[in-house]
Order: sequence, then C-alpha cells, then structure tokens
Amino acid sequence: MLEAVTDSIPLRHPQPGSSTQGPLPLGLPGLGQLLPLLVSLIGLSAVPSASAQGAFARLPPLSLSAGFTGPRAPLPKDWVGRIPLAPETPILVLAGHADSQGIAGAGTSGAAVALRGAAPMQADIQDELYWNLRTAAAVVALGRSRGLPIQLYVPPVRDIASGDDPRTNWSIGKAFAAAGGYALEIHYDAYGPDGIGSGLMPPINRPISQLDESLAQAFGSYPRLFRGGLGAPKRGIALLEIGKLEGKLEASLRDPRRREASIAGIAERIVAAIELGLGLNPPPGAVGNEPAGTGQQASSGGG
Ligand SMILES: [Zn+2]
Repeated sequence: MLEAVTDSIPLRHPQPGSSTQGPLPLGLPGLGQLLPLLVSLIGLSAVPSASAQGAFARLPPLSLSAGFTGPRAPLPKDWVGRIPLAPETPILVLAGHADSQGIAGAGTSGAAVALRGAAPMQADIQDELYWNLRTAAAVVALGRSRGLPIQLYVPPVRDIASGDDPRTNWSIGKAFAAAGGYALEIHYDAYGPDGIGSGLMPPINRPISQLDESLAQAFGSYPRLFRGGLGAPKRGIALLEIGKLEGKLEASLRDPRRREASIAGIAERIVAAIELGLGLNPPPGAVGNEPAGTGQQASSGGG
C-alpha cells in the first residue's frame, strides 16, 4: 500500500555506528547506577524525532468509544495492584516482537493480511510490530509532552535469536525494572480464535503495583500466571495487549484518514492510565479510559 511507504519505520533504528547504540554494558554498573545509565543511553538513542513529536502534539485527544479496542480478555482477574509507585518512577516503553522478526515469536500478521490478502503495512515486518512501534512511539511522545519521565527502547536489529541477548526488549526491560523503573511492552493480540483480547499482564516477579492496576482498569487484564508466566512478565516487564488485530480496531488503524487519530486515542488511554497509576492528576480534558465493565459485552467489531 502506498501509505506504507510514507509511514515506513526503519528496520534498523538507529543506525549502527551511532554513539548511543550497541550492547549496553549491563555487566558493569551496580543496580543503583544502571538506571541512570540506561535512561541516558536509551533517551539519546530512541526518542522520536522532533517532527514526530510535533505531529502527535498537534492531534487533539480522541475519546475512544467503548469497545474501540475490541473485547477485553474474558479471563478472571486474580490479582489487584496495590503497591504505590513514586510519581517520578521512570517508565520504559517497548514494542513487542521488535527483536523477533523472521524467527519464532514474530507476532500476529493481523486479520487483514492473513484472512483478506491485504498488503502488509511494511513488507519486512509483521503488522503487529508495525502497530506496536507506532503505538509505543506515540505513547512516549505524548507522555513526554505531559512531563512523564518516559523512554522508548527499540532494539538495533530485528532478529535476535536469544531472548537473553543483552540487546533484546526482555533484557533491557528486565534491567530497567530491576533498577526501579516500570517497563511496559506494547502488543496487539492475534485475530480470530487464537487471540484473547485486550488486557494487562502484570509483572510476576515482584508485587503488583497501582500502575499495573490502572492499566488493567483501562484495558482489562490477564490472570497473573497466564500460560504459566510469559517471558516478559517473568522478567518484571508488564505486557499490554491493546486489542485483537482485527475488526474495527484494525480497520481504524489501517484507514489512512483515521490512523493518526486512532493511534493518538490509544496513546491517550495509555498515558492517562499511567498518570492515574502514578497518582498524578491527569490534565483537564484527558480522556481515554473505557468505563469499567464494558469488556464483557464488547463485540469484536466484526473481525
Ligand atoms: Zn504480540
């Protein structure tokens, strides 16, 4: 599709040779030193461009209709996040599957590509990663515009075989969380019966926080030990499924006329939930949370 060209997301981001890239020296500093190091390295390397931030800043917040992101995960919420986090807690946002293209765990191709033969948004990556990257960047840009200490990390290459490689989302997020930050990995769920729905999987190696709770109120939730505990939650990384990549959600993202507003609306819901979860007062006019309890009757939007 033509718009995929103008929306193209660089596969290698940033370029090799950048002074801020390469494996982070995770083994060198103590935990107390690690977080500032990570923040400085990540902040320099992965902040969206000024023009991108400006584009997001110009968009008015979109109030997503109930059910915009499709059904919530219809699974029991067997946890409550009660631990308060400091309002200044650093936040790291990760795009799910950004290090696993062309290998196991590449993410969903979405219903449009898989079922209807649509062209992928970008030929060399799964559509889920395309939207994970777009959404993660929008969350960070919006969060920064609201004064949150929020960072984006994007792995330097897209096919890292070992999840424990120091450049993966998992390794960077694990270290960030262990040093006292909050790491959040963005996903879109599979279409059809393979997908479950929107919701948060909280980290399972530490007490569940009020920030986890706030995101769960905004998006729904997964059981604490979903499938025995996935790779990210085991490492202290919260995993957020925005919604199944199908139906109204996918159509809104793919429609060039509605794309930016849709991403902005999703980012608004996430950032507003972060602000609430950190005990920060959201600014006037902040919108985005679905009314509690809408998940059970929300339809998939025909996808
Ligand atoms: Zn995913």
